[in-house]
Amino acid sequence: MGAFHTLDDVDVKGKRVLVRVDLNVPMENGRVTDATRIERVVPTLQELSSKGAKVIILAHFGRPKGGPDPKYSLQQVVPTVAGILRHPEAFAADCIGPKAEEAVAAMKEGDFLVLENTRFYPGEEKNDPEFIKELAKNGDIFVNDAFSAAHRAHASTEGLAHLLPAYAGRCMEQELDALTKGLEAPKRPLIAVVGGAKVSTKIDLLENLVDKVDALVIGGGMANTFLHATDFAVGKSLAEHDLAPTAQKILQKAREKGCAVILPVDAVVANEFKPGAEHFTYGIDAIPADGMILDVGAQSIARINAAINEAATLVWNGPLGAFEVEPFDRGTVEAARHAGERTREGKLVSVAGGGDTVAALNHAGVADQFTYISTAGGAFLEWMEGKELPGVEALRR
Ligand code: AMP
Repeated sequence: MGAFHTLDDVDVKGKRVLVRVDLNVPMENGRVTDATRIERVVPTLQELSSKGAKVIILAHFGRPKGGPDPKYSLQQVVPTVAGILRHPEAFAADCIGPKAEEAVAAMKEGDFLVLENTRFYPGEEKNDPEFIKELAKNGDIFVNDAFSAAHRAHASTEGLAHLLPAYAGRCMEQELDALTKGLEAPKRPLIAVVGGAKVSTKIDLLENLVDKVDALVIGGGMANTFLHATDFAVGKSLAEHDLAPTAQKILQKAREKGCAVILPVDAVVANEFKPGAEHFTYGIDAIPADGMILDVGAQSIARINAAINEAATLVWNGPLGAFEVEPFDRGTVEAARHAGERTREGKLVSVAGGGDTVAALNHAGVADQFTYISTAGGAFLEWMEGKELPGVEALRR
């Protein structure tokens, strides 16, 4: 982590530490339904507390519009955070101003305090210097442990890092370390597996990848657009026919950059999209006009696995088929398990991320076998697109 200041570089004893974390967890009927994001930041919070810091937690929750709204109050997640920390937590009903200042003034070393949703102020998303100054009044140092919000230049994700001495938290550190191993300084050969529904949402990502990786596997609905662009008929499959020129451009760039593109050679086809629907596997030059491609076929899986065997590093975003509905999960599951096995054998560094990818890899049962799985959605995608993340850049030494 030479490029960033981390918790190894600072003595936090007695200091007021403003820690930006991701508490934007899914909730139903007032209960947190998935606490993964909270669990990830617990090591940072506990380390700061055990070192005698006053741990002041900053986060956003949902997308409140134009001011405080009980529906988006962070008070709702305090019991879950306290339960996971196994430590009582105070809550201040504001993130700046007298309520926040009084709560911070009452803190002792090792205490935790959650401040109210930063997005209750428009200054948060505007990265407003006055709002940043108000936030900074309550801290001596700033720790950012919210990689998933690092693609936004907001007051609590970017602005504060310029006003207070700034450090990467342990979760951020782990994420940056994994991402460096994945794309920035990877052990080669480097392969990318990209799937998902559409090319249109991943054009920048594909363009960046063909520039950086040695081999690119394209699967999922987006492969249909590439197959169509290379003159294969894809029947009634999901495909963005108007993006054929874009797909051709990406293939051309791959040729110029010496990136091997691995497209499906066969596909699992059904007439309807429902669990257990009647399905057949066809070669890619024989897709029936009334059929829908819903997964890659067995020969394609074998090719993908063989390509993974050649690689030392793998980055993965997006499922290879419509994995939510069996049996169309098979391609994703088999390739993911193969990558998991190579990783366990010490032959592969595997990094994956982005919304549906986490669900797909969990479904394949390999989440704990990959080297690293990022729970960040937008930030992970922007990183795969080769973009600078403002929240990360602000932490550079
Ligand atoms: P994304 O959010 O772009 O990663 O897309 C994920 C979605 O793509 C999942 O809901 C999959 O069901 C869907 N998907 C993957 N392959 C196909 C396919 N061949 N046809 C239709 N949808 C697909």
